[in-house]
Amino acid sequence: MSQELPYYPYSEYLKNKYGEKVYKLPLNLPVDCPNRINGRGCSFCAESGTGFEALDNQVPVREQLEKNRIHIERRYHAHKFIAYFQNYTNTFLPLEIFEKYVKEAAGYPGIVEIAVSTRPDCISREYLDILKSVSQKVCITVELGLQTVNYHTLIQMNRGHTLAEFIDAVFAVKRYGFELCTHIILNLPGDSLTDVIETAKILSAMKIRTVKAHSLYIAKNTALCESYEKGRISLCSKDEYLERLAVFLEYLDPQIAVERLFSRVPEKDSVFCNWGCSWWKLRDELLDTMRKCGRYQGRRFDYLGGAALKNAGFI
Ligand code: SF4
Repeated sequence: MSQELPYYPYSEYLKNKYGEKVYKLPLNLPVDCPNRINGRGCSFCAESGTGFEALDNQVPVREQLEKNRIHIERRYHAHKFIAYFQNYTNTFLPLEIFEKYVKEAAGYPGIVEIAVSTRPDCISREYLDILKSVSQKVCITVELGLQTVNYHTLIQMNRGHTLAEFIDAVFAVKRYGFELCTHIILNLPGDSLTDVIETAKILSAMKIRTVKAHSLYIAKNTALCESYEKGRISLCSKDEYLERLAVFLEYLDPQIAVERLFSRVPEKDSVFCNWGCSWWKLRDELLDTMRKCGRYQGRRFDYLGGAALKNAGFI
């Protein structure tokens, strides 16, 4: 647990792991997503997918890494990097093309890790074998979009998978010894504080390594945007979201590093994001509240390993 923050920040996790600061170099590959092809996509999915800051996907992998590395090296004086396959569903590619990108990224100077963002229903042995082939050289993290453990909400949001596929993917990735990151949204319409707690508990029980929490934003030209503008959905208040975050962290295993707490989206791309506040102001507000009330990550992490037996004094 960080000495200064009431949660375990990803930056500290990376420093502990690599002995110095490490930054992600985002890669935008020419890839799509099966949920967008086979259906309408997740109801919140923007036209650009999830990589608002990425370079054009026609720019070769090496050039994208080079451009981003120069920028980040100058700004943060970092020398170790993570090649981050960020946008859409990065294992939804023909095997040989996926292999080519993975090998190019693994061979780029300074790359210590490859992080591949994908969907739980796009994990298979063949793709994991390709990642395994470079794992002597670089660490591997698989980032899975789950969003919530409430499978009713997953259906409502047209995710195209439920909780079962997530559990299956986690087991598959763990068999290869890779790290896992999970993306979640704590304020999806239909979810309550109970779902938030259960999400923290399941990620903790499944020993996920890092978590990225996103506050729901409503991107223009999405199904969710239409529902929002027609008044068919309501969003929780800012205070409710901050409370959900604090509770989520309290239930989360303190060993899980937290990479993100709020979404960061350009205003021009959304009709709603972060209640009109900047993410860093929201973060300051969260930290103030948590510190004042003595709240911290893992404060309520006491429910695994036979909690009732411990409570009864049998073990
Ligand atoms: S899984 Fe990601 S890329 Fe695919 S539709 Fe959902 S949000 Fe969009």
